[in-house]
Amino acid sequence: MIINEIFYSLQGEGALAGVPSVFIRLAGCPLRCKWCDTKYAWPPDSGREHTVGQILSEIEQYPTDHVVVTGGEPITNCELPVLLNGLSDANKHITIETSGIAFVTSLPCDLMSISPKLSNSTPGDPALADEHEESRYNKTALQQLINTYDYQLKFVVDAPTDLDEIAQSIGELENINPYKIYLMPQATTIQEYLSKSQMVAAICKQTGFAMSQRLQVMLWNSQKGK
Ligand code: SF4
Repeated sequence: MIINEIFYSLQGEGALAGVPSVFIRLAGCPLRCKWCDTKYAWPPDSGREHTVGQILSEIEQYPTDHVVVTGGEPITNCELPVLLNGLSDANKHITIETSGIAFVTSLPCDLMSISPKLSNSTPGDPALADEHEESRYNKTALQQLINTYDYQLKFVVDAPTDLDEIAQSIGELENINPYKIYLMPQATTIQEYLSKSQMVAAICKQTGFAMSQRLQVMLWNSQKGK
């Protein structure tokens, strides 16, 4: 399978923020979020071919059992189950970072970390916007992921007006545990993160949802491989 990058860092977001983790970034994403900080992983061929054995031997050098499979968009990668089975056989704790645009059954996964994409992610380029709007939000797939896996929902907040869309999304879904919902500032730089944090904090106090850190922004300014 084509791997964009493998690196060792701290999980930056959600319930496991701060946990040392190995990140396996798969190549390819069908979405084109305007604030995406991993655009270099969009093309399906943006990486090097690896066997599962090569991946396992590379990640074994790091002193953690936590593995984060990310992208790109890993859930639409047809080779994902093979990778996850290998990681599971090696007794890794597996987090999958996904936008939740598709459902795949029977994946070895300890935490399905879902970040549904709101309209604030729609690219400005009209040629990209239509396709993005059609595919960025799949309510049926989201519900199936939530029903099937241990999960967390992470919403990226760019402005206070995003709260209406978040409330609508949560209202449409069933069996949601509010303590598994996180709001986090849309930011790819430290300055942007700090400028929006008070706004998100106020929304969290208003709604009772937790505010998620984004350590990769705060500590490393979204630097690649950190
Ligand atoms: S889903 Fe994730 S990887 Fe894909 S474009 Fe959006 S932010 Fe980037």
